Amino acid sequence: MVDGAMATLRSSMASPTKPTVKKGSRHASSMESIVLFGPPGAGKGTQAQRIMDSTGLPQVSTGDMLRAAVSAGTNTGIAAKKYMDAGKLVPDEIIIALIEDRILEEDAVNGVMFDGFPRTIPQAEALSNITKVSHVIAIEVPDDRIVDRICGRFTCGKCSSVYHDTFNPTQTDGVCDKCDSTELKRRADDNADTVMSRLGAYHEQTSPLALWYESKGIFHRIDGDRAIDEITKDILLSLN
Ligand code: AMP
Repeated sequence: MVDGAMATLRSSMASPTKPTVKKGSRHASSMESIVLFGPPGAGKGTQAQRIMDSTGLPQVSTGDMLRAAVSAGTNTGIAAKKYMDAGKLVPDEIIIALIEDRILEEDAVNGVMFDGFPRTIPQAEALSNITKVSHVIAIEVPDDRIVDRICGRFTCGKCSSVYHDTFNPTQTDGVCDKCDSTELKRRADDNADTVMSRLGAYHEQTSPLALWYESKGIFHRIDGDRAIDEITKDILLSLN
């Protein structure tokens, strides 16, 4: 987990569902952030790590922050868990409070790369009051490819590298290529039943955001059903 997520976790433990925003200490005005947009299993996490290496912007994944809160048993985690287990979106006020707090961390001073946020119009509106978004990168993958992609997925518990049994296996079985950790884990919600609800939530609540961002002229569509390197190359071209 990144340090910022730990800090968010600490603050959500101190102030359960609605962390206090330290108004006036925001450094938002000088920030330009990137949004990674797309259905569950599109490869946002994988690409976020690669773009992070190139741009230096920290990855801010609301899914990772929520999973950390669930593991730590905070009130935020307890409130979010039932939605996550059912493959539904966590209420906007919980998510917006997490982001408002996260953006105050020192590493966010030059902007961040949002992964899995915003997912609703109210979240996007809240984000527009927090930071300027310079690019929205939409990684597009057809629905019929999503189930296979999600069901074989696993990550390194130490450095968060993302792998897949078939499409992106580790070089040595059970060992992370990047940091040699053997702490490889699978997500509780990466199963065929929950995937269908998550895809439903994406189409109903999240995909309307594409039009919202398209009207602002900052929306870039990337074909996500290709080799990982090709996708990264196109994303970096869109950012230039
Ligand atoms: P992810 O890791 O992005 O696939 O998110 C896992 C789960 O966390 C989702 O299925 C939602 O239940 C919840 N979640 C993550 N980000 C958001 C968000 N921006 N808005 C609402 N729910 C979210």
